Amino acid sequence: MNITGHTHYIRNNILAFVFGIIVPTILLLASPSTASAVYLISGLFALLPANIAYHKGRNFAKWFIYGVLLWLIATIHSICIHDNDKAKLRKGHQKCPHCGEFSRPEATVCRCCGRDLA
Ligand SMILES: [Zn+2]
Repeated sequence: MNITGHTHYIRNNILAFVFGIIVPTILLLASPSTASAVYLISGLFALLPANIAYHKGRNFAKWFIYGVLLWLIATIHSICIHDNDKAKLRKGHQKCPHCGEFSRPEATVCRCCGRDLA
């Protein structure tokens, strides 16, 4: 992961922490209720699918909301999806200039067409 990816990763988790944990904690302390307790717990739990999906190149905020609404489905879904092009580039994979397929960072020839990678 490069510096930009790391900064986004930290920023995303700070935002999720504020809106998913600090805000509901304040609400819970101000007026203890089941609704604010549920909001706090779902915010904590939603960090899991949001982080898994973000590592696979998906949008953190969208997956955080998905996780709050449908936690179990979002978690299973985030585990099942594969890295998209954005995640592969972030992980240092090389895109073949001839066929457009991605190969591992240490590869010298394309795994798809067999031609040399620049
Ligand atoms: Zn190729």
